[in-house]
Amino acid sequence: MPKKAITQPTVTPFVVAYDDEQGGLEADLTIAYTPTPRLAYKVMQADDRDRAGVLWARVERASRKGKPIFAAMNPERQRECMYELLCQVCGEPAGRNRDGWLFLDWRMPQDPPTWPEGSLTHMPPLCERDARLAVEQCPHAGRFIPLRVKLPRLWGISGTRYQWTDSGWRRDSSIPWLKYGDERLNAVLASQLVRELRKVTVVDLDEVMTS
Ligand SMILES: [Zn+2]
Repeated sequence: MPKKAITQPTVTPFVVAYDDEQGGLEADLTIAYTPTPRLAYKVMQADDRDRAGVLWARVERASRKGKPIFAAMNPERQRECMYELLCQVCGEPAGRNRDGWLFLDWRMPQDPPTWPEGSLTHMPPLCERDARLAVEQCPHAGRFIPLRVKLPRLWGISGTRYQWTDSGWRRDSSIPWLKYGDERLNAVLASQLVRELRKVTVVDLDEVMTS
């Protein structure tokens, strides 16, 4: 689990960032008028925008031979796992049964009182095998609540906000999660895809461990 530090992992999760993976250059950014002004790359490539039109951070997809940074996720792989509902550890299809896809989550202060129903997450799902691995290896595993989610809806993104200045785009700040449709997304470079968990069932950890 990349956001919750692993001390002695035996496996590097698929979504984890590596120190040899370089982000895109800010000099590559420009402003596009569509007609609303919005962040764009000077030379756009096929997957630079998602279906909602949000611009995504570019990452040079390195050989994954560098040093893993367990506290960070590679935006491209996080997006791929979250969009395709792939396991964040192995990159294969996440575990799914009649109650839905398997997520490991924990309650955060900003979560709605209905948690886990209606909560937001940037942590992609897992397969059953790797959910067991995460529980065995992560020091924060005691907080994990296994969830089955029938309807993990695409909700929005998190990323970095930019401001247009006389000298071009200037990085402003990281943003909390923004919902698709928010006009502020025009000036944001997305780095994580966020899903809203709907039709959630809390499942027994032992069930997952023995499934
Ligand atoms: Zn897996």
